[in-house]
Amino acid sequence: MKIETKTIHGGLKPDSSTGAVMTPIYQTTTYAQERPGMHKGFEYSRSQNPTRQALENNLAELENGKFGLAFSSGLAAIDAVVKLLSPGDEVISTNDLYGGTYRLFNGVWERYGIVFHFIGLDDLDRLDELMNSKTKMVWIETPTNPTLKIVDIERVCSWAKKNKLLSVVDNTFATPYLQNPLDLGADIVMHSATKYLGGHSDVVMGALVTRDQQIADQLYFYQNSCGAVPGPQDCFLALRGIKTLHLRMDRHSENAAGIAAFLESRPEVENVYWPGLKSHPNHEIAKRQMRNFGGMISFSLRDDTVDRAFELVSATKVFTLAESLGGVESLIGHPATMTHASIPREKRQKSGVVDSLIRLSVGIEHIDDLREDLERAFNSMKK
Ligand SMILES: *Cc1c(COP(=O)(O)O)cnc(C)c1O
Repeated sequence: MKIETKTIHGGLKPDSSTGAVMTPIYQTTTYAQERPGMHKGFEYSRSQNPTRQALENNLAELENGKFGLAFSSGLAAIDAVVKLLSPGDEVISTNDLYGGTYRLFNGVWERYGIVFHFIGLDDLDRLDELMNSKTKMVWIETPTNPTLKIVDIERVCSWAKKNKLLSVVDNTFATPYLQNPLDLGADIVMHSATKYLGGHSDVVMGALVTRDQQIADQLYFYQNSCGAVPGPQDCFLALRGIKTLHLRMDRHSENAAGIAAFLESRPEVENVYWPGLKSHPNHEIAKRQMRNFGGMISFSLRDDTVDRAFELVSATKVFTLAESLGGVESLIGHPATMTHASIPREKRQKSGVVDSLIRLSVGIEHIDDLREDLERAFNSMKK
C-alpha cells in the first residue's frame, strides 16, 4: 500500500460492533469482563483503549514498522525511550537538539546517572572517539530545529548497528510522508504528533514506532507503568489529522519552496535555511533520504539584531507570531527569545541561532497571500 492510502486506511478497519467507518471515540476507562480475566482484549484504558490502538496501528503502518505506541506528548514518548537505559549508560546525540529534548536529557535524566554527549552527527571520527563500553544509544533528529541541518540517517544508523547501539530518530519535522527512518536502519522512530501528524494545532501527543518485538514490549511496559497515555478524543483527532498528511505535506513543501526563493531575493536577508535549497550545505543528503523538504524555514537578517527581527515578526498578519509548528496555519517565531531562550547566547549563536534568526512554519494557505504578507512586513521595516 502506498503512503497516500495508508494515511487513510493503514491499520484501520470499520468498527466491529457497529460498522462505523470513522474510528469511534471509546470514551471509557474500563470494559466488562465475562469472567475474571475473560474479556475482549481491553481491561483498563491506561493499558489498552480501542481508539488509541487504532491510532497506534495506523502509526506503525505509516512508518513501515510493526508496533506503534502513542503517548500524551512528544516528550513523554522520548521519556519512555530513555527508560530503556540504566544508570551509567551513555547516549550520543546531536548538538542541535530540540530544546525540550535537551532539557529532558540534561535537566532530568542526567540526575539519574544517564550520560549524554551532544556533538555534530556528521563526524564519524568523533563518534568513534566517544564510543565506549557504556555507550548504548544514538539519538538523531533531522531536520533539526531551527537551522534545518540534515543528519545522514543511514550512515549514523549503520555506525550504531556496527557498534551494537540502539538508534532513535526524532522524525517530527519530516513526518513519515517525507522520511522513513526505520527503512534507513533506525531501531525506533519518534514523533511529536503535536506538529504535522495532528496537523491542526489542536492536540498535544507523542508517538513511537519500531519493528522489534522486544523493544516494543519494553516500551509498552513503560507506557503502561508510567501512564503517560493520550485520551481517546485526542487519538481520534490525531487519526483524523493524519488522513490528510500527504496533501498537507505536499502543500507545506510547495509553499516553503516559494517562500525560500522569495527570502533569497530580499536584500534584508542574510542566510536562508531550507534543505530544498541548492545552497543548503546538506541538500544532497536531504535529496537522498527525504521525499520533499517540508514546511520549516529559518532565515537571518543582514542587520543581525533582536530589534530588527522583532520589527519583522510583529508586522506579519497572515503569519501568526507563536511557538509550535506543523499546523495548517502559517506561524512566525523568533527562536533566540522564544523557543531557544533558555540556551545561553554564546552557545546559541554557535549553533546558528543568531539574534536576528526568524523561523517560519509555512502553512497551507495560498502562496500569494504568504509572500505578500512577508513582503508587506519587510517593507514596513525602518530603512
Ligand atoms: C515539539 C517537539 C518535540 C516535543 O514534543 P511535545 O509534543 O511538545 O512534547 C520533540 N521534538 C521535536 C523536533 C519537536 O518539534
